[in-house]
This record gives sequence, structure tokens and C-alpha cells, in this order.
Amino acid sequence: MPLYEYIADNPEQACRICAKGFELQRPVDRAPLECCPLCRRPVRKVISLPNTPRVSAPLSVSAAKNAGFSILKRRDQGVYEKL
Ligand SMILES: [Zn+2]
Repeated sequence: MPLYEYIADNPEQACRICAKGFELQRPVDRAPLECCPLCRRPVRKVISLPNTPRVSAPLSVSAAKNAGFSILKRRDQGVYEKL
């Protein structure tokens, strides 16, 4: 069953669940949800891209090192050099 994301049409009048958005599993053949199951206010489906990492900027080498990662960069076929 696919997972859909919904958010309130008008978050200012919505309950705390749909104001921030919520996820709901729904069979494909069911009509899309039109109102919040809790407060009955109108909601709309959020088109989300599955498996897309929400990273705003690429991780830099120094930031990764500070976080304790070892940065390996590929130099030649099958050879990795530790930076
Ligand atoms: Zn609601």
C-alpha cells in the first residue's frame, strides 16, 4: 500500500496533526483523502519524491572529517587514498 503525505490547505485553521502534514497509507483504488481524519478540515496531497535525501548542501571533506568520517577518494582502479 503506498504511503501518501497530506498537509492542511489552511494550516492556521488546522489541527496540530495536519498543520504539519501527516503520512497515511491508502490503497491505490481509494479516492484521495480530502479532509483531515481528525479535524475534518480540507487537506491536500503532498507530492513527495521518494528516497530523495533532504540535504541542502553537499557535505564538504572538512565537515565530514569533523564529524568523524574517513574520507576516501578514488585515485586509480580499485585504489583508495585516505585523505
Ligand atoms: Zn486536522
